[in-house]
Amino acid sequence: MKRVQRPELPHRVAQYLERQQQEINRRQSTGMLNIDAFWKGRRATKTVGQALKALQKSMGPTEPCMYCVDNHGTDVEHFWPKGHYPGRAFDWANWLLCCTECGRIKGVRFPLDQYQQPLLIDPTIEDPWDYMDFDPDTGNLVARFDLTANDWMTKGVATVDVLQLDRREALAERYHKTFRHLCQKVTTALQAPDLDSTNFIDELLKTDDHGLLPWCINGAGQFRAPFDQLRAAYPQIWGVLRQRFC
Ligand SMILES: [Zn+2]
Repeated sequence: MKRVQRPELPHRVAQYLERQQQEINRRQSTGMLNIDAFWKGRRATKTVGQALKALQKSMGPTEPCMYCVDNHGTDVEHFWPKGHYPGRAFDWANWLLCCTECGRIKGVRFPLDQYQQPLLIDPTIEDPWDYMDFDPDTGNLVARFDLTANDWMTKGVATVDVLQLDRREALAERYHKTFRHLCQKVTTALQAPDLDSTNFIDELLKTDDHGLLPWCINGAGQFRAPFDQLRAAYPQIWGVLRQRFC
């Protein structure tokens, strides 16, 4: 997972979404709402297709899922599940991009805290790395341990559990591969006689297929080789990277 920016919708598409929400609210108030059938009909429209395309484009050329940042994001995911919360079914702020695997694993699970706030991390409004850690040995994403509270972070625990981020072997393998590539890039840079910093930073960003760099630069990764060496040898480059992910 990584922090992502929600794209702007074209005015016409935004208005369409608003009209559908009004229609849902109207049907719900008269007890005539069949949310699944309603969604199915609207999902096939060109306008919803355009909204989906906007989400896909916002994720970059490979259009990965906003949860795993790995598989192709193929469908609109209702962060607050539409079955339980039809009042948010056409709320643009509630739409994420999801792959088939994450959609299947998550299902309709959506745990809330005691204040009825979501425990699942919404990557469009919060930074997943505030609640999760990368395990460089296994490639899994795990809940972050909060030293002040002396406990695992609740949102991290819930997100890892709902999306099974610590139990998806193939995914962990691909995260691990990306991490190794990032380490290789840094190691090579440390050995270079004269390092072109702009080039190096570009290369590093391009290598980060799964959004692991924030963990390497701001998270626990900064204390591990070769990232700790990069910080010591090139404080300026380190500063640029930090700025980028702070
Ligand atoms: Zn996914």
